[in-house]
Amino acid sequence: MTAPENPTVEEQSALHAQTRAIRGGRGGDDRSLAPVLWATSTFWTRTVEEARSMATQAGAERFYSRYGNPTVRGFEDLVADLEGAEAARAYGSGMGAVSGVVLGLCSAGDHIVAQRQLYAATQLLFQAVCPRFGIDVTFVDGTEPGAFAAAVRPGKTTMVFAETPANPRLDIIDLAELGAIKGPMTVVDSTFATPMLQRPLAHGVDLVVHSATKGIAGHNDATLGVVAGSRELIDWLWGFAVLQGAAASPFDAMNATRGIRTLPVRIRQQSETALVLATALEARPDVTEVRYPGLASHPQHDLAARQMSAGGGLVTFDVAGGLEGGRRFVESVRVAQHAPSLGGPETLVTHPASTTHVNLLPEELEANGIGPGTVRVSVGLEHPDDVVADFEQALTAASR
Ligand SMILES: *Cc1c(COP(=O)(O)O)cnc(C)c1O
Repeated sequence: MTAPENPTVEEQSALHAQTRAIRGGRGGDDRSLAPVLWATSTFWTRTVEEARSMATQAGAERFYSRYGNPTVRGFEDLVADLEGAEAARAYGSGMGAVSGVVLGLCSAGDHIVAQRQLYAATQLLFQAVCPRFGIDVTFVDGTEPGAFAAAVRPGKTTMVFAETPANPRLDIIDLAELGAIKGPMTVVDSTFATPMLQRPLAHGVDLVVHSATKGIAGHNDATLGVVAGSRELIDWLWGFAVLQGAAASPFDAMNATRGIRTLPVRIRQQSETALVLATALEARPDVTEVRYPGLASHPQHDLAARQMSAGGGLVTFDVAGGLEGGRRFVESVRVAQHAPSLGGPETLVTHPASTTHVNLLPEELEANGIGPGTVRVSVGLEHPDDVVADFEQALTAASR
């Protein structure tokens, strides 16, 4: 009698994502349940022919780790599977992935249509770096129906770039509308949703990008990015990635594969707690606005309900006391902690107007959806009652 093997591709694809997250990315025929760490930068080859073939083959995983690595490949295959993609490529950070996609696929003379409300570093890449390379970028309000398509210049626009839910006000972009755009390549940064809440490729989008540093790895112990899409596009991206050099660390990829084992249950719990917290915040007189895709008061609640399976773990709200109130709030939380990043087990709060976006003018802050009292929350895995009680005491302290 022979021991049962890992499920075949056919068997595996019939299972739910929650089940596939448990076994996916377990490469080869080894018997290890946990992801195996290949902490090597290089591999020896028997013949010159073998080395020649691997040096020129997209994603070769046993040649040199900037080209590919078995631990990293396990992570890439798992993300590709969860996104319903043919292939994926991991990077040393989310920005490694974003810049790899933009600079790897666009050339001087090209035109990009991008959403105005974006992760700050992505926005800077479009605003400050792209023009230096002769790439023209038009920013649009992605929540306005048809705005992306209307800004496309036929024959000139090569990429349309969106982020949903968007940082920091959790604007929702219509994925079906993006996927229907023909001509330019469509790219979605889906970091806030993770592959558990939405799958942009299923709507016809060409590439999905993640900062896996966030919810995918999910434990604040990895700095990692990933892009998923067709085999052809990922192979093309690989050609630039080996020159760009933002290669994923095998250790971080191992942590991320382990993190994905619990991604479905983490996202479910975080969405549940976030809804409880958002509802409690909405009832407070010292909170002027609450933004959460799972709340009926979110301006795009219906769209969110159509394309996302839950609201996710991010909540954004405005403290009535403005700049001083927001600052005092983030300094008064005790269960939550004041720190950047998101998607981990700890509830984290940030006050963009006095930290990450302190150099912006008031009108620039407004264009970015940031008010003086805006607080962004990444809901963690603590007991919901403890999180709500903590926010209530911190709000009371902030309004004193
Ligand atoms: C964090 C983040 C990034 C950048 O990822 P890093 O891993 O920090 O480089 C890009 N997009 C979004 C939406 C993010 O939250």
